[in-house]
Amino acid sequence: MVTPLHIGVLALQGAFREHRLALERCGAKVTELRRRQEDTPLGGLEKFDGIVLPGGESTAMGRLLVDRGLLEPLRACIGRGMPVFGTCAGLILLSRELEGPDGTLLEQPHLGVLHCRVRRNAFGRQTDSFETALEVKGVAQALEAVFIRAPLIVSTGPGVECLSFVETGEGMLPVAVRQDNILASSFHPELTDDLRFHAFFLDMCRAWREQGRA
Ligand code: GLN
Repeated sequence: MVTPLHIGVLALQGAFREHRLALERCGAKVTELRRRQEDTPLGGLEKFDGIVLPGGESTAMGRLLVDRGLLEPLRACIGRGMPVFGTCAGLILLSRELEGPDGTLLEQPHLGVLHCRVRRNAFGRQTDSFETALEVKGVAQALEAVFIRAPLIVSTGPGVECLSFVETGEGMLPVAVRQDNILASSFHPELTDDLRFHAFFLDMCRAWREQGRA
């Protein structure tokens, strides 16, 4: 029997249970991650085949990442090539530059590994939350996407592939991206029964494991 993929789901705050369920339904083994597990540079996270950063509140999550000693080990694991999937607040935590709804630069603890600038709470009050079917390149022709006080990706740097877009007041902007081992979306794939985005991420994790995780 093939050993199931072992995924760490950051469980400090937010929608981590739904990610756990989706990953388990895809056949993965899941460990909820609440603190650094060892006092080493990779903090014991090196045993995972991939990590998920869920949606929630990115300022609270960023502060907890620092308090629980997880920020540096996570950054180091991602730097070594471990696949990571960030959704909504998870996308914010991964991105290099963060701005508020009015475009001012925000300083809050985050990983800063994804070459994107994201605008928090970008859809405004009228459209705080909405659902729409989106084409996601390599994943699905029509994926039901749930947006909840979602961020928008306002610019991307080299190496970032845009997988999906929505029409905004500023034209078509990306809402799902991939940069090597980093996958991220503005929306919440864990809140629907459609497992295709999680399956896509697990394929990245499997490929990394098969390469010898290096
Ligand atoms: N609005 C949240 C933030 O900026 C993200 C919302 C979410 O993850 N659903 O942190």
